[in-house]
Amino acid sequence: MMLCRIRPTETTESVRTIDYDHLYASGKRALIFDLDNTLARRGTKQLNASILAFLELLGDKGFQVGILTNRRRNADDPIVHSLRKWVPVVSKAGKPSRRGYRKILALLDASPQASVMIGDRWFTDCLGAVRMGMHSIRVRSV
Ligand SMILES: [Mg+2]
Repeated sequence: MMLCRIRPTETTESVRTIDYDHLYASGKRALIFDLDNTLARRGTKQLNASILAFLELLGDKGFQVGILTNRRRNADDPIVHSLRKWVPVVSKAGKPSRRGYRKILALLDASPQASVMIGDRWFTDCLGAVRMGMHSIRVRSV
């Protein structure tokens, strides 16, 4: 039995091949990124400067940017610690539970309708977004 209507999800190569201008033109104002294997390879300990430059570019386009990750470590996680200086981060999100999505949307002051979830996993990233009524984009790799 279908518990919710599964809407088509876009799939793209990576976060760099998404048409962000198109998303903005269609009314999207908040971009919520998964971390592992979406912005950085799983197990990455240091934040790559190009990730920050990329997120900054999206901010310049007019988007609110946030990170929603199931990573469990928090204060002692150097990559999460670095990202927090720039953008809101919700870790231990428990995706696909809706709790983490609600938390990051509140931090960004964004509605589900105006937000996009971008991640590499259908079950954790996209299903949760669909349940929230958010558009989602699955990326194949970092
Ligand atoms: Mg991931």
